[in-house]
Amino acid sequence: MSDAKRPAAGTDARDQLQQRVLAEYPRLGPDDGFQFACHPGLSCFNCCCRDVNIFLSPYDVLRLKKRLGISSSEFLDRYALTPVQKDMRTPVVLLRMQDNTEKTCSLLGDDGCSVYSDRPWPCRMYPLGLAAQKDTPDGWRGERFYFLLKEEECKGFEEARQWTVREWLDNQGIDAYDEWGEAFKELTLHKFFEEGGVLSPEKTHMFFTACYDLDRFREFVFGSTLLQRFEVDEDFVDEMRYDDEALLRFAFLWLRFSLFGEDTVRARAEALEALKGRADKRALFAKVAAESANEETP
Ligand code: SF4
Ligand code: SF4
Repeated sequence: MSDAKRPAAGTDARDQLQQRVLAEYPRLGPDDGFQFACHPGLSCFNCCCRDVNIFLSPYDVLRLKKRLGISSSEFLDRYALTPVQKDMRTPVVLLRMQDNTEKTCSLLGDDGCSVYSDRPWPCRMYPLGLAAQKDTPDGWRGERFYFLLKEEECKGFEEARQWTVREWLDNQGIDAYDEWGEAFKELTLHKFFEEGGVLSPEKTHMFFTACYDLDRFREFVFGSTLLQRFEVDEDFVDEMRYDDEALLRFAFLWLRFSLFGEDTVRARAEALEALKGRADKRALFAKVAAESANEETP
């Protein structure tokens, strides 16, 4: 189920909500309608931007750090939390709430959201949530549906404006976020994890850096021997120097290769030659990846 904007809650409470949504909430398709409007004239304006769990995707972080004109490391340091829990398969990043009595979002300004056009996916989606049944063989690609998250304090549902789900998603610019979200799920819901695989601390660190700390990942790509060891299209390499989206695309490919042994990045012939004697191609790839990771991952 989506981590749409909702009051902060522990893992158990989230699991219970997830079960309730799947069992009880009316399911909405793209052409189903709802009534909602959010604007500064409402008595509840901004009250939902406090004490809330907002999970950030790599694309959310990319958009936010660009909007704020700071590096990914600075963004993570100032505006994010990276909680560590025993049962986590991959790192998570949460938007930091301020340390005041109301726990207001650290991106909330006097006139509302200070990063509105680059606000994270959960803030765009509300009042819609997105859920997927995991009862198909490929899990998250199974039946997807939307549902309405009605927070008690939210007056937006008393407004007359009518939307279909499709209109809301278009209006909120969800498409780009969803495309990146699907690519990210290919990592977080990879069959490696379904089969009980666990990432080592070094690989977890690589995952975090490549997904969320893009400026450090760029230092790794251009400051190590990675590009000498792997065949990457020259134009794409040039793009990655300056374009965060190109770099994030490469980061996802790199992780699928280095963590899961997929052939998403090709080792140069010389690198393979140096590892001669290892019959299994995957092992060769993994060895090259591990050498790069151990020597040069920031
Ligand atoms: S209408 Fe709902 S979404 Fe808008 S500010 Fe009020 S509580 Fe938040
Ligand atoms: S990012 Fe903006 S919309 Fe989202 S909780 Fe913070 S202030 Fe509110």
